[in-house]
Amino acid sequence: MSVSYYDILNVSYTANIEDIKNSYRVMAKRYHPDISSSENASTIFKLIVQAYQTLGNTESKEVYDKKFFESNLVFEDGRGYIKFPKKRIHYASSLKNLAQSGMLARGQAKRKHRLKSFGYDISLSLTKTEHRRGVAVRLSLPAKGTCYVCYGMDQYCYLCDGLGIYSSTDDLDFLIPPNTPNNKIFDIDLRKHPPPTKFSYFTLSNLTVWVKVMDQP
Ligand SMILES: [Zn+2]
Repeated sequence: MSVSYYDILNVSYTANIEDIKNSYRVMAKRYHPDISSSENASTIFKLIVQAYQTLGNTESKEVYDKKFFESNLVFEDGRGYIKFPKKRIHYASSLKNLAQSGMLARGQAKRKHRLKSFGYDISLSLTKTEHRRGVAVRLSLPAKGTCYVCYGMDQYCYLCDGLGIYSSTDDLDFLIPPNTPNNKIFDIDLRKHPPPTKFSYFTLSNLTVWVKVMDQP
C-alpha cells in the first residue's frame, strides 16, 4: 500500500477537517525548509502542502476518499477505525462450503448460482456508531497455497497429499469508510489484494461485500 495523504499529514483516516488543519500546521512547521535540518525537507514540505490542499477542503477530500478507500482496501492497523466483530460477519453459505471443500471447480459452479440468488458473498450489519466512524474488517477467505513442504514432490505429504497445492483460508483486511451509504455493495478485486501469506492466493477472483446499517443505535 502506498503512502496516503493521511500518512503524510500524520492523521487517522477518520480525521475531520479540523484535525487535518491542526496536524498540517504542526507538520508544515516541522518540515519547513527554512527551519528543518532534514536533508529532504523541501520535498517533504511540498508533499505536506499537496496533501493538505486535497484533504483540507471538503470537496476535494470527498473525491480523494472515494478513490482512496476503494483502491486501498488493505489496511495495516486500521488507524482510528472501530474493529468490526468477527461474529457479526455473515458469510454466504456457499462461500463457507467453498472454504471447506477446497475444490475450485465445484466452488465456481456454486458461485455462479449464488450470484444469481444472493448477489453478495459477505454481508455486514453496522451499528449507527460503526457507520458514523467507519470500521476495519478482517475477513477469512478460502485460499490456496503452493506446498512449501514438498512442492508437490511427495505423494505422502501431510499438507498437500502430493498435489503441490493445499487449501486453507487467509485474511483480507479492509476498511469501510465513515458514512458509507446504506446497502452499498463493495466489489473487491482479490487479484489486486493478495493474502498476507507468501505463496498463497485467494480462491475467488473477486468478492462482493454488502454493507447494511442497523436501525438500532
Ligand atoms: Zn506437499
